[in-house]
Amino acid sequence: MSGLQRDLERLLGGEALRTGDAAETYLHDATEMQGLRGWADAVVVPQSTADVARLVAWCYKHGISIVPRGGGTGFAGGAVPFGGVLCSLEGIDHVRSLEPENWSAEVEAGVVTARVHNLARSNGLFFAPDPGASSQSQIGGNVACNAGGPHSFKYGSTGVFVTGIEAVIADGDVVRFGGHCRKDVATYDLRSVLVGSEGTLGILTRIWLRLLPAPEVTLPVAAAYSAVADGVEALRRVYGHGLLPATLEYFDEGALAAAGETFPRQLPANTRFLILSESDGGRDEAEALRKPLEEALAEKALSVAWLEESGDLRAIQRWRSGVSYAVSAQRGGKVSEDIAVPFANIEAAIEGAREIGERIGLPSCSWGHAGDGIVHATFLIDARSSDDLSKANLGIAELFELSRRLGGTVTGEHGLGWVKRGQLEHQVGTAELKLLRGIKDIFDPAHLFNPGKKGMGGGEREVGLVSAF
Ligand SMILES: Cc1cc2nc3c(=O)[nH]c(=O)nc-3n(C[C@H](O)[C@H](O)[C@H](O)COP(=O)(O)OP(=O)(O)OC[C@H]3O[C@@H](n4cnc5c(N)ncnc54)[C@H](O)[C@@H]3O)c2cc1C
Repeated sequence: MSGLQRDLERLLGGEALRTGDAAETYLHDATEMQGLRGWADAVVVPQSTADVARLVAWCYKHGISIVPRGGGTGFAGGAVPFGGVLCSLEGIDHVRSLEPENWSAEVEAGVVTARVHNLARSNGLFFAPDPGASSQSQIGGNVACNAGGPHSFKYGSTGVFVTGIEAVIADGDVVRFGGHCRKDVATYDLRSVLVGSEGTLGILTRIWLRLLPAPEVTLPVAAAYSAVADGVEALRRVYGHGLLPATLEYFDEGALAAAGETFPRQLPANTRFLILSESDGGRDEAEALRKPLEEALAEKALSVAWLEESGDLRAIQRWRSGVSYAVSAQRGGKVSEDIAVPFANIEAAIEGAREIGERIGLPSCSWGHAGDGIVHATFLIDARSSDDLSKANLGIAELFELSRRLGGTVTGEHGLGWVKRGQLEHQVGTAELKLLRGIKDIFDPAHLFNPGKKGMGGGEREVGLVSAF
């Protein structure tokens, strides 16, 4: 055990420390299939906000960096440490309160997302954000990334549901902005500053959430097309007719080649583009959307199938969560990004990503939250091949350029993390960058929280170590 580990054992107790193999599992996130793995001088699992405050105060005193980690499902390498102390929030996982009469909940940051879904549901309520790995991700991680997901189209991303945040910032100060109150404009909106901060401003320890009444019914529909253009036309009609289904997802030919066989219903043989959508709400409301949605989807469709509300819906949502893994299984790895463009440019983004794949000589595919303009453009790689990795890197650089050209962003939901370092400068101007870095300086003057992430600098000495990126 190192001196640092012994100090932390004294500070937090032996049960908070993870060493050897037990520590290894904390050194990667969902970017592992791209080959990204870090290291930490110590891995700790505090059990309370007070523990976190003590830890941060100690790290601040000794100039040691701290990387917060939720469920480790992030796709940006945000929770991957490159030295310093890895602080996992899994031990801070109490549901403090659930108030069905107020449509609200107060949960600790380490509560797993699916637990919030289930708790809300069992009380007639609904927590809409549903990033695909919800059985593993944590609420703190969702807030730290402002995670989206299929239902963001109608309901908004995680931040929309956050009415309060408790966080530990520099020197171990515990700060709280907001709470159960749905509206509170007394202060600068620092709660929103913490939403999406990716662990670079402090450690989120408690979250107050706004919930919704649970939709009475959810009616899923699948529409198949033989060409991207036909599917995109249908998406445009949904927008053009002013329809607001709960989800509006797409899957291109490559994604269907990887995962289409396990789709819960038989798809027409020449399906090259699939749209999944859900009409939800009160029964009358959901039924009322059915006809116009079907009309919007039907023109040029090979098939439009309404699926069963109960069994089919669950099967489709499970299938949707598995697409990423099915794609990875094609060649053993993938490099995937979450560019987002204005909805009007979605076809150009989908086609542009495909053309980049052809140019760099890697199989590619995309799928995503079409309604929100999010394109998960993906290059399939053999993760052991450095040639594939360098081709993918070239492709990703072109992809980012494409998103900017189309008026979009390099990240619509996963965050900049580590893998998109260097991108912020291309996306915002000098004055904006100065303001963002000024905010970082106030929350974290010694730049010890999650160095090298979210374009906030630091971590430079490690750059060469992950040459694959
Ligand atoms: C199969 C699959 C599908 C996915 N689908 C989606 C999707 O549809 N939409 C979407 O948005 N994302 C999706 N993701 C990405 C991921 O699930 C989300 O980004 C999720 O919000 C990450 O949560 P986590 O708890 O795993 O965070 P981690 O991966 O542990 O951390 C992510 C970032 O948050 C920071 N962080 C974590 N906890 C805290 C805390 N308590 N305080 C401060 N900072 C913290 C970390 O430092 C890191 O920067 C998917 C991932 C997988 C594997």
